[in-house]
Amino acid sequence: MSDTKYVMAIDQGTTSTRAIIFDHKARIIATGQKEHEQIFPRAGWVEHDATEIWVNTREVVGQALGRASLQNSDIEAVGITNQRETAVVWDKRTGEPVHHAIVWQDTRTQKICDELGALGGGAERYKDRVGLPLATYFSGPKIRWILDNVEGAREKAEAGHLAFGNTDSWVLWNMTGGPDGGVHVTDVTNASRTMLMNLDSLTWNEEIAGEMGIPMSMLPEIRSSSEVYGEGRAKGLLAGVPIAGILGDQQAATFGQACFEVGHAKNTYGTGNFILINTGTEIVPSKNGLLTTVCYKIGGADAVYALEGSIAVTGSLVQWLRDNLGIISSAPEIEQLAASVEDNGGAYFVPAFSGLFAPYWRSDARGALVGLTRFVNKGHIARAALEATAFQTREVLDAMNADSGVDLTELKVDGGMIANEALMQFQADILGVDVVRPKIAETTALGAAYAAGIAVGYWSGEQDVIDNWAEDKRWTPQMDTAERDRQYRLWKKAVTRTFDWVDDDVR
Ligand code: ADP
Repeated sequence: MSDTKYVMAIDQGTTSTRAIIFDHKARIIATGQKEHEQIFPRAGWVEHDATEIWVNTREVVGQALGRASLQNSDIEAVGITNQRETAVVWDKRTGEPVHHAIVWQDTRTQKICDELGALGGGAERYKDRVGLPLATYFSGPKIRWILDNVEGAREKAEAGHLAFGNTDSWVLWNMTGGPDGGVHVTDVTNASRTMLMNLDSLTWNEEIAGEMGIPMSMLPEIRSSSEVYGEGRAKGLLAGVPIAGILGDQQAATFGQACFEVGHAKNTYGTGNFILINTGTEIVPSKNGLLTTVCYKIGGADAVYALEGSIAVTGSLVQWLRDNLGIISSAPEIEQLAASVEDNGGAYFVPAFSGLFAPYWRSDARGALVGLTRFVNKGHIARAALEATAFQTREVLDAMNADSGVDLTELKVDGGMIANEALMQFQADILGVDVVRPKIAETTALGAAYAAGIAVGYWSGEQDVIDNWAEDKRWTPQMDTAERDRQYRLWKKAVTRTFDWVDDDVR
């Protein structure tokens, strides 16, 4: 394959949409990026305007192509990666969303989840089929909420006029023509986050969709993560270019980090943290609060599964210190503030802002800052905020070791927070294993680019991913065991202080 052609990844993330063009060696040639509005209509609700996301997608594609002086004929294939679970419901006749997208962090569906659990089985009701506990995080209950609360939506859905998708499907449908022949498809990784897909057969579960009141006609067709789904619409900047890869963002990062063997794991430090460990073609049920999910499926090959530990709040706690408390003016500034003190001064910050995700799945939890004395200052709070990321990661890795029966020997990392070297050292200290950063940190976009490039023969397969992966830096544990155990014990105690906060009348 000639080096003069490129692959583009579209990364439709929680805070922004990016287009990144890679060459055959997986080097970044050009990038376009645009943030979209975070809409918080009330406590616990988080929305995005899906139309804004589609407008931004076109804009960032134009930016990336323009910066590299490239056009559609230079792009061999496009891969899409996306914020998972976020639910968009739109009218196929007009292309108009019927409501803002309900974002993965949104907790408005708690009542729906409780009602479904009350049918029998509680939070575990669907777990043996879909690998997930009933929680506000996943798409199914969000679709139900839209159909229940948007006037006329249920009638339109039943008449076959509405489509559901995570943002991968929304972007793909629009890219391939929208109301004019748009392709309504998702991949197995995104489908595995809806609570509606059977993990073993990789098909929609009609019984669960029925209980949630979701007409089957709304659901996209489920395909592999690496195959040609369609091509860019005739009038678009990517006219005729095959769109050939879809992976949910965390699965894309796992792929881009070359975690292809059983036991290989990565941790992405972004708004939240997401740790995935490859379990091969085996579906491993979790007894310790992890999710069982599809990791990837390359064309006709067998699906590869993963155990996942999702942590809702890590980098977004740094944003919260910046935006809500104002004790820093930019995220990287937290490094200086945290370095102004020796240690956390006894303070522990449990950011249970959306309840607690893995391994607890406690929607009744809310955030707590504990261990406070007159001694504690903003430096200690900054430090406690950073340490919260490392402690939460340790809890998930403990659960992974227990579920898989194999102790992890090193952790590959990526995401915005890994720029923080002090945090990476503390992470190695608290885990007691090495933390490894790759040379190409854009693993999410890269994973989607690989999936698309492999589908069209631009790359030959996983071996190319392995060959292009290179280590940049490694942090080795330095803390002694007694101190590690002491701090972790205090963290665990702090976590218990967040439980049982939400009563029925909490506002
Ligand atoms: P996402 O893809 O989830 O939007 P990114 O991977 O871009 O997130 O990471 C951004 C996150 O990293 C933000 O939440 C920000 O607060 C955090 N962050 C950025 N720089 C630093 C830093 N130097 N120290 C700690 N956190 C940081």
